[in-house]
Amino acid sequence: MRTLLLSDIHSNLPALEAVLADAEGEFDAAWVLGDTVGYGADPSACVAIVRDLDALAIAGNHEMAAIGNMTAEHFNPVARRAIEWTASVLSEDEREYLLGLQLVETAGRFTLVHGSPSDPVWEYLTTPYQLLVNLEHFETTACAVGHSHQPFNIGVSDGKAEQVKHTPGERERLIGDRLYVNPGSVGQPRDRDKRASFALLDQQAWDIEFRRVEYDTPRAQARIREKRLPDFFADRLALGQ
Ligand code: ZN
Repeated sequence: MRTLLLSDIHSNLPALEAVLADAEGEFDAAWVLGDTVGYGADPSACVAIVRDLDALAIAGNHEMAAIGNMTAEHFNPVARRAIEWTASVLSEDEREYLLGLQLVETAGRFTLVHGSPSDPVWEYLTTPYQLLVNLEHFETTACAVGHSHQPFNIGVSDGKAEQVKHTPGERERLIGDRLYVNPGSVGQPRDRDKRASFALLDQQAWDIEFRRVEYDTPRAQARIREKRLPDFFADRLALGQ
């Protein structure tokens, strides 16, 4: 069986529901790579689902800010409004759960972090240079990250990073002596494809499958407007950026 990899759900319940319907019966474990909350209108429902999945979850920058573990002043003003709203609607029990999340976890041959191994909260792991430098900051063969909302599968061998060009829906090999994967964002994709992004990982076969699924975007947008969250968060869901 495979592991379901989710990241950056961002309180988008319709997207999370669509992903789980698509992957139903195909996984026996789930990893959630942070930013389950923030931006969207259904933080509590999304946290409840992650808890129901019994997922190995880590904290992202949005959890840290929403539970008051970190100041929100590093966020732009619209993001901060969403964080303050999120903080106001989380129950004490949900806060406790989020407070209990670690910034780094390991599972099998993988290290799990939201941003990067050297800076789990803030670093956007994007350049080959960052990928090489970060190899010194984790001990497992592989590392699963989120945060950039860009899905990728990148192997590193002999000081060179190589990205596997991926085709959603096809299993692709994990390559390299060390490697990084990012399942992309469930709830707020930013690679100009508005469909929810996630991945299924097979640690025995050593492969990963990226998937994209359509979800009820108008419903997610309507929920954001109902809660009087900034329109920007609703608008960008239609664009996938
Ligand atoms: Zn995020």
